[in-house]
Amino acid sequence: MFSSWMVSSLLAASVVLAGPPSGQAGPEPDVFQMRHLKVIALDPGHGGDNRGCLGVNGAYEKELTLQIAERVRRILLEETSASVMLTREADVPLGLRERARMANSWNADVFLSLHLNADPYGSGKGVETWFLSVDSADEEAQKLVAAEEGAYGENEDDDHHEHTVVQNVLNDTQIRLAQARSESLAAAVVDGMAASTAAPLRGVRQAPFGVLKEAKMPAIVVEAGFFSHEHEGTLLLDPEYQETVARGIVKGLQAYDVQLARVPGPSALRTVLR
Ligand SMILES: [Zn+2]
Repeated sequence: MFSSWMVSSLLAASVVLAGPPSGQAGPEPDVFQMRHLKVIALDPGHGGDNRGCLGVNGAYEKELTLQIAERVRRILLEETSASVMLTREADVPLGLRERARMANSWNADVFLSLHLNADPYGSGKGVETWFLSVDSADEEAQKLVAAEEGAYGENEDDDHHEHTVVQNVLNDTQIRLAQARSESLAAAVVDGMAASTAAPLRGVRQAPFGVLKEAKMPAIVVEAGFFSHEHEGTLLLDPEYQETVARGIVKGLQAYDVQLARVPGPSALRTVLR
């Protein structure tokens, strides 16, 4: 039977055949021009013996953070003008401060450390992003930093020293500017993820993450979902869901780039911070 589907297919084919004469350029590829984010540093959390949290299906966080980072990189390279650097591309150990130092050495415009959340009760669900604070905002924030970074053994300096280091960082005018940018970046990325995945929006929070302390550019920790939640943890293993997470992060980066273009003088920030 000559169905309407066949008619439309034939029409579509004729449109293709009647396309631009040979030699004439077709439409430009739809590439988003990043005005400010020229270099994006992605940090897949954990690696090697530092496996991160355990997911509901026996996978470890370190595997998924790398998979999601690779997806974010692919989308950014295919669909935007940004170049992308990963702090690790294999299952290898990497120090906390080393990660931010790598981003500094690349003169990255933003630094995103990618993670998955976990809670002991399996009830937590949703996406959140974090930026640096001098002190832990609350007990939950302290617990998260301990869970995420305790295994690195890099927080063994005494608290006073740690506090002084962060205080010095935050007293620096240029870094303060970067911190304000970090908050905007965190908001844009968490909004992008929530819109793309339909996961609950847990918002933007502050904690003294070691991985953010030495970053000389807007820097955030991305908690892309709860690996300990039966439903969300299973979704996070699904390549299609991972793709929505990655796409949400990219949308957030694009929104942040657009936002920077609206604020007077943002292009100076990157230069100032060098
Ligand atoms: Zn983590």
